Amino acid sequence: MPIANGDSNTNGATVNRQVDTLDWRKAVEVLQEYDARDGLDVYSLLDGKKNGALTYNDFLVLPGYIGFAANEVTLDSPVTKRISLKTPLLSSPMDTVTEENMAIHMALLGGLGVIHNNCSADDQADMVRKVKRYENGFISEPVVLSPKTTVGEAKELRDRWGFGGFPVTETGKLRSKLIGIITTRDIQFHPRPDDPVTEVMSKDLITAPAGTTLQEANAVLRDSRKGKLPIVDGNGNLISLLSRSDLLKNLNFPLASKMPQSKQLIAAAAIGTRPDDKNRLQKLVDAGLDVVILDSSQGNSMYMIEMVKYTKEKYPQVDVIAGNVVTREQAASLIAAGADGLRIGMGSGSACITQEVMAVGRPQAAAVFSVASFAAKFGVPCIADGGIQNIGHIVKGLAMGASTVMMGGLLAGTTESPGTSFVNREGKLVKAYRGMGSIDAMEDKKAGGGAKDSKAQNAGTARYFSEGDRLLVAQGVSGAVLDRGSVTKFVPYLLAGLQHSLQDIGCKSLVELREEVINGTVRFELRTVSAQAEGNVHGLDSFDKKLYA
Ligand code: GDP
Ligand code: GDP
Ligand code: GDP
Ligand code: 5GP
Repeated sequence: MPIANGDSNTNGATVNRQVDTLDWRKAVEVLQEYDARDGLDVYSLLDGKKNGALTYNDFLVLPGYIGFAANEVTLDSPVTKRISLKTPLLSSPMDTVTEENMAIHMALLGGLGVIHNNCSADDQADMVRKVKRYENGFISEPVVLSPKTTVGEAKELRDRWGFGGFPVTETGKLRSKLIGIITTRDIQFHPRPDDPVTEVMSKDLITAPAGTTLQEANAVLRDSRKGKLPIVDGNGNLISLLSRSDLLKNLNFPLASKMPQSKQLIAAAAIGTRPDDKNRLQKLVDAGLDVVILDSSQGNSMYMIEMVKYTKEKYPQVDVIAGNVVTREQAASLIAAGADGLRIGMGSGSACITQEVMAVGRPQAAAVFSVASFAAKFGVPCIADGGIQNIGHIVKGLAMGASTVMMGGLLAGTTESPGTSFVNREGKLVKAYRGMGSIDAMEDKKAGGGAKDSKAQNAGTARYFSEGDRLLVAQGVSGAVLDRGSVTKFVPYLLAGLQHSLQDIGCKSLVELREEVINGTVRFELRTVSAQAEGNVHGLDSFDKKLYA
C-alpha cells in the first residue's frame, strides 16, 4: 500500500499532496517480517571471534523511543553490594586526581572520590577524617573547649580544624556539663589572647534534649537563628552538636553520597595488598573509612585474595572493592573471596603504557562486558575504570554493564584535584596528570623516602613495583591535561549529558539500560574507521569546541 501519493511540482521534485494516515499497526506488521530488530544485540556486537575485541570508540548505541523528559532519567546505581550512588561517577585513586578536596566534592555531587595512597598512612587517614568531618547530622564527637582554654588557643583550634564553633564544658570533654559556646564571631576581634574563653563565651544557650530526632533538632536550630545547637542530657551534659551550615550543605547538594544514619559523606580510599597495607587500613578505618579499594593492576593474585578475605573478616562494616580485572576468570576468584565490588580495566587508562610494555590487558568495552555480565550473576557491581574521555564513553561503559565509571585524566584538570594549574609552552592552561606507574610517581619522595627499598614499602607505587625489582619499569607516563574548571560545574554537565543520552536510547534509568542491553532491546552498531571519522567534527576550517555553558 502506498503511504503517500506523489506529484511533481514545477522544479521536478516530488511533492506529497495527499498523505494517507500512517497505519502504525501496518508498520509494526512490516517490522515483524524482519528476523531481528535493527542493529546488533550486545552479544553479536561483542562476539570477539567475528569483530575482534572492541573498545568504546568501535561502536555506537542505536536510538530508541523517547517517551519521557531527559530530567526524568534517574542515574542511581550501586558501587558495592551495599552502597548505591545517585551519580555513577568515581574519581581515581591517583596523586594528581583525588585528595580530600576532590573526595569531598565528588561525594557532595553524588559520586565518590577514592583517596590515593601515594603518601604516608597518616596523611591518607587525615584526608579520610576530613571527608568524614565535612558534613554531619549530629556531630557526635565535637571539638570541645575547657573553661581554661584561652582565646588564643581557640583561634589556633579554629585554624587547625577549619571551623570555629566550640561548646565549652566543665571538664573540656564531651558528656560533661555544658557551660557556654564560643564561635568565630566571639573571638575574632578580642584584644587579649590570654583571656580564658569564659570571658567571651555565650552562656544563655538554646539547646535540645538528648533523644531529639534529627528532624526535630534541625527545626529547633532553624528557629533559633543560631549557628549551632548543642544537644544535652537531663543533667545538662553535652551529648552532641548540630551545625547550621550542615542544613545548607544538605540543601545545596541534594545528591550527596552520605551514610544514612550519620549524614556524613561516604569516604573511600585505596590501599595495596602488602603486609604493611594492613597497618594502613587500620588507620583508615579508625578515621572512619567506608569503602576500601584494593588497588592492583592485576588483581587476580594470592595477595589480593588474602587481603579481600582479611578485610571482610576484620572490618565487616567496610565495603571492599577488588581489582583490577578484565576477564571472567580473574573476577571469579575475587567474587569467591568476598569482594563487594569489582574494578575493571587494564591498560586502558589515558596515562598508561601497560599494554605496550607488558603485552597484557584488554580493550575496555570487551573487558567491561565480559566481567560485568559475569559479576551480575552474583549481584556484584562493577566499576569501568579508565579510558573515559567524554560522556559517550561513560554511557558505553554503563551500557556494557558497569554500574559506575571511574575517571582519572578527565577529572585531573579540575580545580578540586591536587596541585595548581599552569600555563604551558603553547599558552594553554593545564594541570599535571601522571600515571601511578610512571617513573615520576614511583620516584616521588612523598611516597616515603629516597631509597628504592623504602619506596617499595609504599602502597601507592607498590601497584607497579615489586620488592625484588632492581629497576623501575614504567607502566605509565607523566604529563598534563587541560584545565577544566570546577567539578561542581563539570560533574553536573556529565550528568545532564548522561540523562540526554539515556533519553535518546529510550531508557529511563540505568537499571533499565542494563536490562534492555541484555534482553536485546537496546541495539548497537559497529563503527568502521570512516564511520568514526564521520562521527567526529569534519570538514570545518576551524572550530571552537565549547562543551557546556
Ligand atoms: P533529605 O531530607 O532528602 O536529605 O532526606 P534524608 O533522609 O537524608 O534526611 C532526613 C532528615 O535529616 C531531614 O530532616 C534532613 O533535613 C536531615 N538531614 C539530612 N542531611 C543532613 C545533614 O547533613 N545535616 C543535618 N543536620 N541534617 C540533615
Ligand atoms: P563554624 O561555624 O566556624 O563552626 O563552622 P561552619 O559553620 O563552617 O561549620 C562547621 C562544619 O564542620 C559543619 O559542616 C560541621 O558538621 C563540621 N564539623 C565537623 N566536626 C565539627 C566539630 O567538632 N565542631 C564543629 N563546630 N563543626 C564540626
Ligand atoms: P558565628 O556566626 O559563626 O559566629 O556563629 P553563631 O551565629 O552561632 O553565633 C553568633 C553569636 O551567638 C555568638 O556570640 C555566639 O556565642 C552566640 N550563640 C551561639 N549559639 C548560641 C545559643 O545557643 N544561645 C545564645 N544566647 N547565643 C548563642
Ligand atoms: P583515565 O581516566 O585517565 O583514562 O584512567 C585512569 C585509570 O588509569 C586509573 O583509575 C587506573 O586504573 C589507571 N592507571 C593510573 N595510573 C596508571 C599507570 O601508571 N599505569 C597503568 N597501567 N594504569 C594506570
